[in-house]
Amino acid sequence: MAGRAVTFRTRFAPSPTGPLHLGHAYSAILAHGRARAAGGEFLLRMEDTDLERCRPEWEAQIVDDLTWLGMTWDGPIQRQSDRLADYAARLDPVAVRGLLYPCSCTRADIRAALSAPQEGVAFAVYPGVCRTRPMESRQPGDALRLNLAAALDAIGPDVTFTETGPSHAGTHHIDRATALRQIGDVVLSRKGEEIVAYFLASAFDDADQGISHVIRGEDLFDFTPVQVILQRLLGLPTPTYHHHTLIRDDHGKRLAKRDDARAIAKYRAEGATPQDIRRMVGL
Ligand code: GLU
Repeated sequence: MAGRAVTFRTRFAPSPTGPLHLGHAYSAILAHGRARAAGGEFLLRMEDTDLERCRPEWEAQIVDDLTWLGMTWDGPIQRQSDRLADYAARLDPVAVRGLLYPCSCTRADIRAALSAPQEGVAFAVYPGVCRTRPMESRQPGDALRLNLAAALDAIGPDVTFTETGPSHAGTHHIDRATALRQIGDVVLSRKGEEIVAYFLASAFDDADQGISHVIRGEDLFDFTPVQVILQRLLGLPTPTYHHHTLIRDDHGKRLAKRDDARAIAKYRAEGATPQDIRRMVGL
């Protein structure tokens, strides 16, 4: 990969917690096709930070299915599980700047603190119970949270990213009030020190792997502002984002890992060809 200036580099980043299904195949085929058409690079990354749910067998199956679909990737497969200590260490400067705090709240604590119904809150935003705790008070079982208001002050008001996907195309400006209302003080590192949040590990990887274009499902669009805020805070570049529409089941529900009925392996076993899969996902 080194030695050649590449202006288009994308990746497919599955979590090996189950079989590759039609939805993943669509994402991978789209990203792979764009990279090849642009004379760029396509990287494969395993997002296997969930050590309990990720399995080497699922990774092997994913690799086998992608190969069967005719995909090749540039460079070796990168695994997040190899980089856990590195991610955690890279949070230190942010902690030193006073932007992180230890949190001992359980989900039940958070629910209780949020029990007064809040109009217009899309998902549970942390009410800030532990926000005034200094880092020195961190106990082994504590999570680390980002003080979002302080982080937004640190990065300044001009936070934008470009989206080219069909549902949200355009330049998105991350507005302070909206971010505080919709994102809040996210957990960056769970208890046990070295397990960092998916969206943080992924932001580090996209930067380290020189990803210019992130192509992924629309279900991840809502994570993008958090990732962009973290990129600014950590001095990482912001790629261009493309969130594609989701492949849905017959009832209109998005496919999940547990939808084994739509697993590529099952279609393969039934005699489908890679062209059949492309047709099924509308390509
Ligand atoms: N690991 C995520 C998933 O399997 C994808 C994350 C990303 O593409 O940024 O849904």
